[in-house]
Amino acid sequence: MTGFDLLIRGGLLVDGTGRPGRPADVGVAAGRLTVLAPGEAPRTGGAAEVIDARGRVVSPGFVDVHTHSDGVTLLGPSGGGSGRALVRASVLQGVTTEICGNCGSGLFPALPERLPAMRAEARITFGGDVGMYADFAGFAAAHARVLRANHLASLVGHGTLRAGVLGPVDRPARPDELRAMCALLDASLSQGAAGLSTGLIYTPGSYAGTDEVVALAAVAARHGKPYVTHLRDEMSRVEEALEEAIEISRRSGAALHVSHHKTAGRYAWGRTERTLPRIAALRAEGMDITCDVYPYTAGSTALAAMLPPWANDGGLGALTARLGDPAERDRMRRAIAEGVPGWENTVGNGGWDRISVACAPRHPQAEGRTIADLAASAGADPLDVAADLLVAEAGEVTIISHSMVEEDVRRVLAAPYTMIGSDGVPKPGGRPHPRWAGTFPRVLGRYVRELGLLRLEEAVHKMTGMAAARFGLTGRGVIRDGAHADLVVFDPAAVADLATFTEPLLPPAGIDVVVAGGQVVVRDGEETGARPGSVLAL
Ligand SMILES: [Zn+2]
Repeated sequence: MTGFDLLIRGGLLVDGTGRPGRPADVGVAAGRLTVLAPGEAPRTGGAAEVIDARGRVVSPGFVDVHTHSDGVTLLGPSGGGSGRALVRASVLQGVTTEICGNCGSGLFPALPERLPAMRAEARITFGGDVGMYADFAGFAAAHARVLRANHLASLVGHGTLRAGVLGPVDRPARPDELRAMCALLDASLSQGAAGLSTGLIYTPGSYAGTDEVVALAAVAARHGKPYVTHLRDEMSRVEEALEEAIEISRRSGAALHVSHHKTAGRYAWGRTERTLPRIAALRAEGMDITCDVYPYTAGSTALAAMLPPWANDGGLGALTARLGDPAERDRMRRAIAEGVPGWENTVGNGGWDRISVACAPRHPQAEGRTIADLAASAGADPLDVAADLLVAEAGEVTIISHSMVEEDVRRVLAAPYTMIGSDGVPKPGGRPHPRWAGTFPRVLGRYVRELGLLRLEEAVHKMTGMAAARFGLTGRGVIRDGAHADLVVFDPAAVADLATFTEPLLPPAGIDVVVAGGQVVVRDGEETGARPGSVLAL
């Protein structure tokens, strides 16, 4: 019983399977775990470092199944003053594996001739020059050149894939183009990408019909990897959008994972009373459907996504040109007021008073204020305020949308097939949504300890074992002999999120120790500087 690099002694082991916690010690050697009966290990010696975990929970490292952290570590120290705080926020909440490439958006794959144009667009989406890569192997190689504390896995984003073959155009794919998309997807999945994601409210993914997505999801199915979707509508037509996802899963044979499940906007509040029983019934029939959720009633996205889909046809340059044309602005105003068939109309479902500016690099004075409020101050129409801001910022404006009610969030969190994803968008500058820094401690503090919505073991299972099983993270997400040494030691009485909409990157309370790849990356709630993380090929 000697030779451990690390021994975590005296804690309550919550092993990630959902089983009741039990007292146990955990040893780490050469990046792998050994579970020991309390006191079985020598009290001193035999381990290079001993961590006293009395009064603490020892759990597997958290798996954040939904991030947009594809590029944040590639920004380097030049990623702005908040760069390091942005990168750090995830691991400080206990996340040892991030899954990026969500909502149809990523940094690969694309045909070689499309790479330069897409690299320029990615600069806007990710807040700096993060590159654009032909395939998963290229993406992984770029990440291998920068050190990171925790691990990263990536889905293949359908919007990126589509733009990487067709460009950002509003038309169906020709058969040869669809074949090219399938081939690029197949190559990246063979190299280790985690599955296929779509973002069917976002251009250019929204330009695809159901059949195109079925053909691509069938490629994922052949690899035994899931189809992960930001539904085509999460508002008034959320049930139709869920049915489309179910159809895609059935016809393609791919397992279905619904991203950040929500029923947002006043017409859809309470609709989780219908979507969740539908999912539960399909699961009872044997269908493989899961979802994830973030524990907040506000979402966050790009301001440009508030405009009707035709406004973004042709990409950023075309959008900017349209925004400069008063007649086109009037068309957008009418589309928002009247709706467009098949388009999730966030503003029409809520109002400009629920949309606040999160990040507008050249207009920091607008950050934190709603579009309605900015319009009232300026004596202007809200659409014009939004359009002017987009033009002045060259399209680069992030918003927060206060669009959900707490009852729906709780219902989704409590569903036994729901895992946890921050949907964090770590982009330099402004005031990002606090979910990137607070999601996991918020579930453990607010929803487990304060509200009793979930048992501790259930919540940890959602954050670890359930997520690892869904995304094929073999040997992770569960504490058992021989598993990868990704761990969190936290104080169940103190764990809490401190990040707010005003101070969105404040680290949480109660996350004491984080171990990734067998090394202590967080001690006493602070980064140690160890960088054992890697890109996981699955
Ligand atoms: Zn999304």
